[in-house]
This record gives sequence, structure tokens and C-alpha cells, in this order.
Amino acid sequence: MTRRPYVGGNWKMNTGLLSAGALARGIAGDLVDQPPCDVTIFPPFPYLLSVNSILRERGVGLRLGSQDLYHQPNGAFTGEVSAEMLIDCGVRSVLVGHSERRHVIGESDGLIRQKLIAGLDAGLEVVLCIGETLEQRNAGETDLVNVRQLEAGLSDLGFERMSKVVIAYEPVWAIGTGRTATPADAQDAHEKIRAWLSATFNDQVAQETRIIYGGSAKPANAAELFSQPDVDGGLIGGASLVSADFVRIVRAAVTSRRVQHDSRG
Ligand code: PEP
Repeated sequence: MTRRPYVGGNWKMNTGLLSAGALARGIAGDLVDQPPCDVTIFPPFPYLLSVNSILRERGVGLRLGSQDLYHQPNGAFTGEVSAEMLIDCGVRSVLVGHSERRHVIGESDGLIRQKLIAGLDAGLEVVLCIGETLEQRNAGETDLVNVRQLEAGLSDLGFERMSKVVIAYEPVWAIGTGRTATPADAQDAHEKIRAWLSATFNDQVAQETRIIYGGSAKPANAAELFSQPDVDGGLIGGASLVSADFVRIVRAAVTSRRVQHDSRG
């Protein structure tokens, strides 16, 4: 089956009001031809509304995402933002379990699960990020860690909720470091994630769920990573802050998928 590629641009805590607008305009301007790829940008919270107006004005199929959410709908949770508030701002997709939230902010698997359910039940697409640290990789625990995070996030979710989940495999040692997993290592991890989906849900869920790679992906390595059969696109940090680079990565996702499809006949 051919899965539609997915490329996300995680701006993290970068840009300002003007530069966020300029970046959104740059990407939207370069993607007017609406390539066959789901493209979502994840600006910081304060710029969601202004970036949303820009995307609506341009009318291109670029989607707005949020880097985080809180699992309660409202109440005394100082500093937090609910799924409903995000939807009010035009958000359609949300990241949960990003390695910076797991390892810098200290989010637990339990909290990540609550956020994931809250996002899905509010109607958002959820990108669940998983991946091992360098220490865990060196100890040969990559697959163990991935399965543990998948189980904590997705087990018992049901088919309907799973249809709104994208999985981002992001080895922690590759995020923002300039070190990228080799295409073979990425494929190996993705293949095992897909096998877990098949064993836990069924083959249809495994074949339909997009599994994207994140960790120092850039225009120079994107095509090779995305040409792996189980790599359905990427979650891009640093390179998503330069519109020309991000757009080249989107185009690499589309071309790699087309080449794979053609070569399978
Ligand atoms: C990320 O933030 O999800 C990411 C993959 O960052 P970078 O591309 O900068 O490694």
C-alpha cells in the first residue's frame, strides 16, 4: 500500500512574531502547487494565530500544528494550553512525547499518554514521538525502548483513534546534533515499529500508519532516508527554520515515495 508522505516542521522555541510570519509565508509560497504530502508546521504557541491567518490567506494545504498540549479541557492549570484552545487557533495536529519534553522537561510516559488521548478525543491528529538515548542505543536497547514507549502511548487505543496517529521515530542522540541515523538503521527501527503495530493491532493498522523519521534530517540526506520502504517522511527541527531547506525536504519525501511506488510497479 502507498502511504501519503508526511513532513512536519518543528520550530521549537525559535522565531519571533515577524520571522514566524516570514517563514510561514516562505513555505506557503513555495508549496503553492500543493504536493501530494501532508505538510504541517509547528510554530511556538504565541504565533499560532498569526501563522494560521497567513496559511488561510494563502489557501495552500499547509497544516498548522502545536508542539504540545495539556490533557485537561480547562481549569486551574497555570501556563497550560488545552486541545480546545488549540483548535480555536486553527491547530489540526499536535506533537506529544517529543524527546525534549521527555528528557528536558521530564514528562512521563503516563502524562504523554493522557495528552495523546486528549488530543485524539478532541479531534486532533497526534504525532507520537519515540526514540532511544545514546546510552540506551549503546546498550543495545533501541528496540526495547521503542516498544516500551509505543506500549505506554498506544496500547488499547482502538482502530479509530489509531487512524489519527502518526509515529515519529526520533533517536535522541540524532536530534539537533548533526548526527543522523543511517538509512539502514532508520529502516530497521521503522520496520520493527510496524511489526509491533501489526502484532498489537492488525496488519491494516500497520500498513496505514505513517512512521516518520526525525533527527538532523536535511536536504542532503532526506531523499536517502525517505526512500527506505518504512520511512514515510520526517519530523524536521533545525532545517525547518529555513524555508528553502524545508521545502526541499518536502519535495524529497514526495519524490522518494513516487520512486518506491514505481519500482514496485
Ligand atoms: C526535532 O525537533 O524533532 C528534530 C528532529 O530536530 P532536528 O531536525 O534539529 O534534529
